[in-house]
Amino acid sequence: CGIVGYIGRRDVAPLLLEGLQRLEYRGYDSAGIAIHGDGTGRNGGLRTARATGRVRELEARLPKRFTGTAGIAHTRWATHGAPCDENAHPHQDADGKIALVHNGIIDNAAELRARLESEGVVFTSETDTETLAHLIARSRAETLEEKVREALRLVEGTYGIAVLHADFPDRIVVARNGSPVVLGLGEHEMFVASDVAALVSHTRQVITLDDGEMATIKADDYRTYTTEGSRTAAAPETVDWVA
Ligand code: GLU
Repeated sequence: CGIVGYIGRRDVAPLLLEGLQRLEYRGYDSAGIAIHGDGTGRNGGLRTARATGRVRELEARLPKRFTGTAGIAHTRWATHGAPCDENAHPHQDADGKIALVHNGIIDNAAELRARLESEGVVFTSETDTETLAHLIARSRAETLEEKVREALRLVEGTYGIAVLHADFPDRIVVARNGSPVVLGLGEHEMFVASDVAALVSHTRQVITLDDGEMATIKADDYRTYTTEGSRTAAAPETVDWVA
């Protein structure tokens, strides 16, 4: 239903929670957040929190010192699986290397899930989204962009996604097919969201991705390309109104 992501220099959790609150008008049943830890946690890497209900429920559940400068967050409108903590996004692979948020519906999720389960993958939710996390984890490609691209080639349906990977802490990879994804360009910081309403308090320079387009955002840089990998020349626009 709603996606927000940030990479930059500021403490990420308050920014993401504020972004989710700006999307509350769209309605949702659960919410969640994943961040790249600042390395002071027990095992560095990704940290997540999820909660059924409102954003303030999620906020109340955040572990102590949930600090970092890159992360993604989601409000869910359940399509596959009941609204509950386990089905809330972000979804992860078995090793917890990947965290992914998704808007939309993966049409061939049942078939992909059956295939993955027959190969020994253990699912922890009933969502269509979790298949994507496992598919990305199984890719042998070297870059996160290529891993995501390989996974998306197997998927039919609609998606706006944002992906974190513990081994690639300098970036967030996003993709769009039938579900909106907007980049927000800041000074030494970048945002992503499913709706400009979540960005405009921070930047008015935005890029709206097209269907079949992906992007990598880093604190000081972004690039857009197609799901086949060729670069696209998306020009930033200035938003001077808010719906
Ligand atoms: N199909 C996904 C789910 O049921 C995403 C729903 C949404 O767009 O929030 O978890």
